[in-house]
Amino acid sequence: MKTVQIDVAIIGAGSAGLPAYRAAKAAGATVLLIEGGPHGTTCARVGCMPSKLLIAAAEAAHSATHTIPFGVHIDGSVRVDGREVMRRVKSERDRFVGFVLDGVEAIPEHEKITGYAHFIDDGLLQVDDHTRVRARSIVVATGSSPVIPLQYRALGDRAIINDNVFEWNDLPRKVAVVGAGVIGLELGQALAYLGVDVTVLGARGRVGPLSDPAIKAYAEKAFNASYRLETRAEVETVERIGNSVHIRYRTGTGDVVEDSFDYVLVAAGRKSNVDRLGLKNTSLKLDADGNPVFDPRTLQAGNHPVFIAGDANGILPIQHEASDEGRAAGTNAAHFPNVLPMIRRAPLSIVFSHPRMAMVGARHTDLPPQSFVTGEVSFEDQGRSRVMLRNQGLMHVYVDKNTRMFLGAEWIGPDAEHIAHLLAWALQMNLTVDAMLEMPFYHPVVEEGLRAALRDSVAALKALEK
Ligand SMILES: Cc1cc2nc3c(=O)[nH]c(=O)nc-3n(C[C@H](O)[C@H](O)[C@H](O)COP(=O)(O)OP(=O)(O)OC[C@H]3O[C@@H](n4cnc5c(N)ncnc54)[C@H](O)[C@@H]3O)c2cc1C
Repeated sequence: MKTVQIDVAIIGAGSAGLPAYRAAKAAGATVLLIEGGPHGTTCARVGCMPSKLLIAAAEAAHSATHTIPFGVHIDGSVRVDGREVMRRVKSERDRFVGFVLDGVEAIPEHEKITGYAHFIDDGLLQVDDHTRVRARSIVVATGSSPVIPLQYRALGDRAIINDNVFEWNDLPRKVAVVGAGVIGLELGQALAYLGVDVTVLGARGRVGPLSDPAIKAYAEKAFNASYRLETRAEVETVERIGNSVHIRYRTGTGDVVEDSFDYVLVAAGRKSNVDRLGLKNTSLKLDADGNPVFDPRTLQAGNHPVFIAGDANGILPIQHEASDEGRAAGTNAAHFPNVLPMIRRAPLSIVFSHPRMAMVGARHTDLPPQSFVTGEVSFEDQGRSRVMLRNQGLMHVYVDKNTRMFLGAEWIGPDAEHIAHLLAWALQMNLTVDAMLEMPFYHPVVEEGLRAALRDSVAALKALEK
């Protein structure tokens, strides 16, 4: 077996691993990038990009079937050609993956290696059965994988995950989506808009990442208008019969429903891939789940020269966070023992549902109840939203009672993916609600809805003074 000596070994060439490679190199280290699976990143191959491509087709279909209130009639039917939809999803996806592959191709051969790595001891990795890598520092950027609960494993090829959806050549007739998190809601609604009969079975009342009860309730009602969404489903039995899956579940109100589906799309959460790394062979401190204990600011595992970035660390499983963490981990790995805390951007997450959902800053559930006021706006009567017939949504903004600082927001509504950026930027600039209201708002735009929510929070602050 070959042995390689290196400053920094990076396990995983995804959205975290690639920036880690570049950062460690820029810091002057010798670097080896280890990738066991297909190159191209989860985001481009089976995540962010193909899901947004499917959603784009779904929104085109939705718009085409919702023209009549404008007085615009499509005389003749609107037809979704599943084969053409999937062809575009895959060909555009391949284009995006191609850009990543070009970048990997440009990495010199001696700086990359193919195979799955695991720890032999603290500073020694083995890659498949061909190479041992002795590294001064190691970046773990191994990503995450879907959790497939036991009851779905016996369904064979009828139980699928997001990866499989983007390999379809055509759209199926009927799908059950297990999980009402971000992936389940995005893919479930996209399939429904494309004419697939969709039931989303969530548990524990979850609606994407939302934590504000009022926003959650609004979103659940809004989504239920376009597909069946059971947020408190209890799946009792799952059985494969021929090429279909029979599911018996109990709804939140106690009704028992039995239904058959072509596929069950399992979107019941994801778990870190660190469990496959042989961490027990190291002296790293592990938590009860076998994950390394690490400092979320420096990403360092204890005092070891091991840094954990991206979905592998389970902090915020989103692309830009993975990329920032990768850069920080690569830099710290190269400069070890001079390790610095990373500077995080304002928390920002977006769900590409229709309407979009977004969260900025502190989650409602994490705010001490007496510390803040809530400003609210409904988008149902919001001028521009009504003009465009996209007047569905509810927004809550949270403002600190004492400092009048903007703390965060949760909402569902039109243009949320853009408004979320305005709010994240305001948060990162430490603006008060008063400073935010001094910013320009053009007329008529959806952002005037945000202004109404901010004004509502000011009114709530004033009411407290009385
Ligand atoms: C359906 C879906 C939609 C998403 N949509 C969005 C979105 O719209 N916006 C957003 O911000 N985020 C989105 N995400 C999340 C985003 O894709 C992830 O946060 C991001 O890809 C994580 O990057 P990573 O580098 O941590 O993991 P990855 O990109 O998965 O990279 C990890 C790499 O490590 C490799 N690996 C694992 N174990 C080993 C080993 N032992 N040895 C060698 N190599 C190994 C894997 O093969 C993989 O290539 C989505 C995810 C999914 C699944």
